[in-house]
Amino acid sequence: MKKVKVKNLAEKYGVSPKVILENLVSEGIELAGAASVIPPDMVTLVEEHLDDVFGVPAAEEEVPAPGKPVKVKDKKKISPLPDSPEKPEESELHFKPPIIVKNLAEAVGKKPNEVISDLMGLGEFASINQSLTEEVAKKLCSKYGFKLVLDHREKEHALHHEAEAETVESKFDQEAPENPEDLTERPPVVTFLGHVDHGKTSLQDKIRHTKVADGEAGKITQHIGASVINFKGKNITFIDTPGHEAFTQMRARGANVTDIAILVVAADDGFKPQTVEALNHARAAGVPIIVAINKMDLPDANPDKIILQMQQNNLSSEDWGGDVGAVRVSAKTGAGIDDLLERILLEAEILELKANPKSTARGTVLESQLEQGLGPTANILIQKGTLKVGDAVLCGECFGKVKTMLNAAGERVKSAGPSTPVKLVGLSGVPNAGSKLVVCNNEKEARLEAQKRAETHRSTHLVQTPTQSLEDLFSKMSDSTQNCLHLIIKSDVKGSGEAIIDSLKKIPSEKIRVDVVVSGVGAITENDIMLAAASHAIVVGFHVRVNPGVNDIAKKQKVEIRLYSIIYELLEDITDALTGRLAPDKREKGLGTAKILQIFEVSKGPKVCGCMVEKGTVRVGSKARVFRNKELIYNGEVFSLRRFQDDVKEVKVGLECGIRLDNFVDFIENDIIEVYDIELQKATL
Ligand code: GDP
Repeated sequence: MKKVKVKNLAEKYGVSPKVILENLVSEGIELAGAASVIPPDMVTLVEEHLDDVFGVPAAEEEVPAPGKPVKVKDKKKISPLPDSPEKPEESELHFKPPIIVKNLAEAVGKKPNEVISDLMGLGEFASINQSLTEEVAKKLCSKYGFKLVLDHREKEHALHHEAEAETVESKFDQEAPENPEDLTERPPVVTFLGHVDHGKTSLQDKIRHTKVADGEAGKITQHIGASVINFKGKNITFIDTPGHEAFTQMRARGANVTDIAILVVAADDGFKPQTVEALNHARAAGVPIIVAINKMDLPDANPDKIILQMQQNNLSSEDWGGDVGAVRVSAKTGAGIDDLLERILLEAEILELKANPKSTARGTVLESQLEQGLGPTANILIQKGTLKVGDAVLCGECFGKVKTMLNAAGERVKSAGPSTPVKLVGLSGVPNAGSKLVVCNNEKEARLEAQKRAETHRSTHLVQTPTQSLEDLFSKMSDSTQNCLHLIIKSDVKGSGEAIIDSLKKIPSEKIRVDVVVSGVGAITENDIMLAAASHAIVVGFHVRVNPGVNDIAKKQKVEIRLYSIIYELLEDITDALTGRLAPDKREKGLGTAKILQIFEVSKGPKVCGCMVEKGTVRVGSKARVFRNKELIYNGEVFSLRRFQDDVKEVKVGLECGIRLDNFVDFIENDIIEVYDIELQKATL
């Protein structure tokens, strides 16, 4: 993370460092001088505050990204008084479409909540990532004293294109409902999940080698991201990359390709943490699960133990009267493979998987690459319609004409129908895995749309990856549909996770349902973030730390992590979010920081951190965050403070003390404890 010093801010806002320092003091941050570094997690808050005081510096606004303000002429701080008799003179606000609520809020210097609430006043209901029509945006800006000027690329001409492209996009993004009569059965798409070394790859290989699809035997197999086998006259498609990481990555990109998940458990090893994790991921995806009890050939195979473990994980096996298939197999001998395939076909039958092979072809990119002699190639799973050689296609930000298609046997095929994987040659570039492929009327249409997508990449990205955050929960709630708050809960012990879920269920709200995607024990990991991204969930940590590097991934995936140490605070935040009170009411005030010099074991309660107070004051009962290498690892509270043998209420800068936090997580020397208070402010809405 880039260090921001007082002097950088002084330059940015065109004032002296002294003025910045004074302003920071009023915000509860005491720093020594111009060379002092702003605490990394306070930077945004500080900048917001300084933006308020000095106005948004012009330099920030000169590099326009699409959907961002281009230039604000004579920007003043205007507090709009709707009934004020004298309307302030309107200054121009230049903006590049699309007009996304969040970006517009930023441009007019308002909190998104305020903007959303003002939009409601205009009879418009929009969420933070939604785009506004020009008319509505103009009305809104006028309310704030700005005259909105949209900077279209090539004036009228571009506007026309934009409108045209818009229709293409909506046409391709929204799938037209199918006539039930046109639907025909399609093969199931299956993914293997489970603990490492339990036999996912071996099972898949064994199936592939014994049950190759008709006419493909003996051919050189091509890696096309998925394979198709034939069993009892029916095809089954297996996704080649096993494991829940790949599975959830795809879902995080908005691609749900899997119909059925096979949870592989080695009969001699049983459920492992990764098995449970994989199970959670499959559950979050809402796909039916079949358990394959593998390695049955081993002498210490104990399938009964697996059935019991299934039960303990709420997977009720058929053996015990439940409805989850538990099939005993051996990838080594091939025993039970037919039973497994039989079971897959049965699940598929229950799912009534159907697609219209005649509609406009659509598919999803499983993998893509640049290949010598072929150029960009993409492994695509066709999901509906039939893709044919010669079709003009749009694929993410790429376009092209289908020049060649290869099937898993490496043969050229002229067409590919639903649930068929193919390698496609003929795209203009390498699309991202998870991108959708759509057939267009002609190549020009595909090219225009691809170009438009590339240009508006940033804002499109914003629109397409709506992740949840508590702060904008309220604004996203709509009356018409039942709203859902998805949570992934990680806690130090199982009991606290359960207590949280119980309490969450008791939050009275007709408007919202709290859905716990997964609750688990232990630190917040990359996997939790990917799952959250895929499920549009917030990750809530209770008495746990965030693993190194995970904060960055969360930022990239736009996943919110919230750490708590007291259940009621979590409940309060959620209740506040439901009533739209969360964001504006609270502001944190930094008190001080302390560095951990030593860890002391004590007979009772959490360990004590021997610390040096490096800045400000550390106070009992205040909130505390712990950072390691500038990365937040814990959020809790100062439980008690000791100076020599005495319990004290606070310790000031320059003094050593023992700090006991409300819970000891594996803190180490040189971790930084940052102490702060939450101040309640008047609601600004
Ligand atoms: P993955 O990590 O889940 O994909 O597991 P692999 O398919 O790579 O298998 C891990 C190890 O277990 C390999 O050494 C396999 O040979 C072995 N293995 C897989 N299935 C069986 C089986 O049914 N029986 C026995 N005895 N070994 C197996």
